[in-house]
Amino acid sequence: YIYVLIFFGIIQLFRKIAETKPPFRSQLWVIVIGCMFPILSGMFYTIGIDPVPGMDISAFGFLFTNLFLVLGFSRFQLLDLVPVAHDLLIERVQAGVVVIDWQDRIVDINDHAKSLFKLGPKDVLGNNMKDLIPWNLNLNSLSRSQEISEFALPDTKDTYVDLHVSSLNPKKNLPPGYLLILRDISDRKNAEIKLQKANEELVHQIHEINRLQKMLENQATHDSLTGLFNRHLMDEVLASLIAQSDRNKSALSIIVLDIDHFKEINDTFGHQMGDNFLKEYGECIRAAIRKGDFACRFGGDEFLIAFPNMETDQALKRANELRLVLHEIILVQEQVQVRTTSSLGVATYPHHGDSIAQVINAADQAMYSAKEKGRNLAEKAA
Ligand code: GH3
Ligand code: MG
Repeated sequence: YIYVLIFFGIIQLFRKIAETKPPFRSQLWVIVIGCMFPILSGMFYTIGIDPVPGMDISAFGFLFTNLFLVLGFSRFQLLDLVPVAHDLLIERVQAGVVVIDWQDRIVDINDHAKSLFKLGPKDVLGNNMKDLIPWNLNLNSLSRSQEISEFALPDTKDTYVDLHVSSLNPKKNLPPGYLLILRDISDRKNAEIKLQKANEELVHQIHEINRLQKMLENQATHDSLTGLFNRHLMDEVLASLIAQSDRNKSALSIIVLDIDHFKEINDTFGHQMGDNFLKEYGECIRAAIRKGDFACRFGGDEFLIAFPNMETDQALKRANELRLVLHEIILVQEQVQVRTTSSLGVATYPHHGDSIAQVINAADQAMYSAKEKGRNLAEKAA
């Protein structure tokens, strides 16, 4: 019966040898050879090979087995090898290592992991991992993805780790435990975050600079009250319209518009009311002109509008339309309705002057003539 058991034991050992890595294989061979002594001594005794007549030597076979195993263990340090490997792998590795069982209990944890989780030197083996570390991780899906994920550690401001989770499944019918390997990547991650913040700040500053630049450009060319172009741009634009008129041999009409008795509006209803009128004038003029026409605030209550490719009579018609539209502006202050009229002068290049200055002057004179004739009029240059 004993020999049958030893025989099956040896078969198991051979199977194990086949799937064991070389350093451990020699240890198994020591056990196999050790187990041969009782079998051989039993066989010798049974077939009558009897070194000491009358004595059963099979008992000595077991003695030899034990001596051989003791020798083998001390020679191959079978019992030492596992703790040394554990020490090397778990304690000295430059990563946090945590092993938890299927009930989330900590089975093994190295000092590196303890310091990452700020657990101090206390013994936490057997404790539930979720009680110690408020970290809501889906270990099952992490272990299946096999990817290294980056996490901020809970309860720390700037500690980041990359985490690799492996499922430990010693018995397939039980839920798995997990091996967590954590590497501290805080330095890299914090540098990345700093860089990203600096980058965002830079992008913000570039947007701000662009905005200010556009605002400055706009301020340089536009009148802040009416939103129309200002006088600085006028000379440049009118010069190019004159050149275009020369090229096309077409007329360029100018309207100069001045609000009637505007001073009285300021004096009676206040400067703010005056400003509101100027704004409304600006909007009406902008709405009245087409693409390609040009309108600017010429002076205090004076506006200039240029119509390329337009003869004087057509411009006069437009001036009268504009005069009527502007008269429709009604502002109310303390239940008093306030309205204005305006006087307009029309002149055309090249009929009323050889240069833009002469044409503007002619339109100005026509506007003064309208004022003299009683205001609320549009006049063309003589
Ligand atoms: P007239 O019919 O002869 O044109 O009479 P007027 O009172 O309009 O006289 P004038 O055109 O010479 O006066 C322009 C007035 O416009 C003078 C000034 O008080 C006012 N003004 C100029 N710029 C502004 C401004 O930006 N806002 C306001 N509220 N008033 C302005
Ligand atoms: Mg005026």
